[in-house]
Amino acid sequence: MDLKFEGKKTLVRVDFNVPLDDKFNITDDTRIRAALPTIKHILKNKGAVILMSHLGRPLKKLNEDGSVNVEKFTLEHVVKHLGKLLRKKVQFCPVTVGKQATQMAKALEPGQVLLLENTRFQAEEGKGDEAFAKKLSRLANLYVNDAFGTAHRAHASTTTVAQFFKPNQKSFGFLMQKEIENAEKVLNNPERPLTAIIGGAKVSDKILLLEKLIDFADNLLIGGGMAYTFLKAQGGSVGNSLVEEDKLKLALRLLAKAEKKGVKIYLPKDSTAADDFNARAKKANKFSKRIPKGWMGLDIGEKAQKEFAEVILNSKTLLWNGPMGVFEMKPFAKGTKAVARAVAKATSKGAFSLVGGGDSVAAVNQMGLSEKVSYVSTGGGAMLEFLEGKELPGIAAIKQGS
Ligand code: AMP
Repeated sequence: MDLKFEGKKTLVRVDFNVPLDDKFNITDDTRIRAALPTIKHILKNKGAVILMSHLGRPLKKLNEDGSVNVEKFTLEHVVKHLGKLLRKKVQFCPVTVGKQATQMAKALEPGQVLLLENTRFQAEEGKGDEAFAKKLSRLANLYVNDAFGTAHRAHASTTTVAQFFKPNQKSFGFLMQKEIENAEKVLNNPERPLTAIIGGAKVSDKILLLEKLIDFADNLLIGGGMAYTFLKAQGGSVGNSLVEEDKLKLALRLLAKAEKKGVKIYLPKDSTAADDFNARAKKANKFSKRIPKGWMGLDIGEKAQKEFAEVILNSKTLLWNGPMGVFEMKPFAKGTKAVARAVAKATSKGAFSLVGGGDSVAAVNQMGLSEKVSYVSTGGGAMLEFLEGKELPGIAAIKQGS
């Protein structure tokens, strides 16, 4: 962020896509808080800030007459709270581009903040449209992208707009910088052993990540629903556990690839199984490869928790994505909690730990352990793609020409 902000207007792409309740109150302002250091830095350096963001998917949920549901998706919902956090009045422009946006941007003084309406009210945003991006670029002299959560999308406000700024007129914001630096600590020359803990529902969502991890991790702990596809592929009886039948061959191929590369894959030896998918179901600890008919594995079991924790505690770098079980239901949250505690403990002993991806982040936050791991990523999908080794369009657009 070594741009000269003084006397200039800076267009800042932030991620204010916050959850709202029925009355449009913000229920979790983490994303807004994450953008504050960048905004405050520009204001402190006597610049003016023009903020843009998306909120939800308004074009997927149009009104019956085909119009945009402004009441639900307007970014005006965040104005008051943002003002409170910045201790400053935030101006709101009810359009994203056009005459009013141009006028309000022009009148903006150093130290002032203007928020534009939801970029996704415009179909051009998702298409990465050049004409729309050019209109956005004309509102300001400088461009800062601090929206890591959408850096994997080649949208107008995250990617295309950057081409209208020279290398010395554009930059990453502090949040984006931090996300990239922390992901690179795992990808580039990590301290070993490096252990990746991967969970969540499906193998199919994480094939690329698993492939990539087999290339550079030392240990791979696989939990969550996705473990049962591997266990079944190995000949286990997994009852009614979540299995992707069309991924059985892939699972075997991944296991063989890992063996060839000397990467140790740990599957849960036992599971907390239940006779139904609900919190009040009958439950019991079972060997994961011997789950009775009609029962399903909903969490890693006691032995697996111990084994996973041991591997974690002997690691120097940790990457965690995805819960170990159906952690939303208390009886099946123990495995995820055990892993969270082990990651926190390993961190206190000097390991570097990165937690990335929606549900594991929620689990760490719920347990109040977010301060006890090295870094919690704000970008679920974006972090996944970054770790898969893809060049994210939002990042490439800032680097271009520099
Ligand atoms: P993901 O978004 O892929 O990280 O998956 C998270 C979801 O996986 C959560 O909603 C969990 O409830 C679910 N999940 C984790 N373990 C299991 C399991 N053993 N069976 C079914 N769903 C699971």
